[in-house]
Amino acid sequence: MEKSKKNENDKLKDFRRYLEPCPHCGREILYHMTQCPFCKKEVNFKYYKPMDPEKAKTIKVILAIIGFIVVFILLFYMNRS
Ligand SMILES: [Zn+2]
Repeated sequence: MEKSKKNENDKLKDFRRYLEPCPHCGREILYHMTQCPFCKKEVNFKYYKPMDPEKAKTIKVILAIIGFIVVFILLFYMNRS
């Protein structure tokens, strides 16, 4: 009984890590939001940095290459068996 209650509190604490009070209306919103769902004002949390577009492009290219390699390996093994 005591234990399950503690787990619930932990879960709530976990969830609250992602919440930040809105600088405009003070209600708690998810920190990655760019607009407050309550007051519809734009919010920018200083520690949330959107991904560098150049970096995002590089990651996309790398993922595409990895995807290509995986498909190539799968085709190779399918042809062998
Ligand atoms: Zn707000």
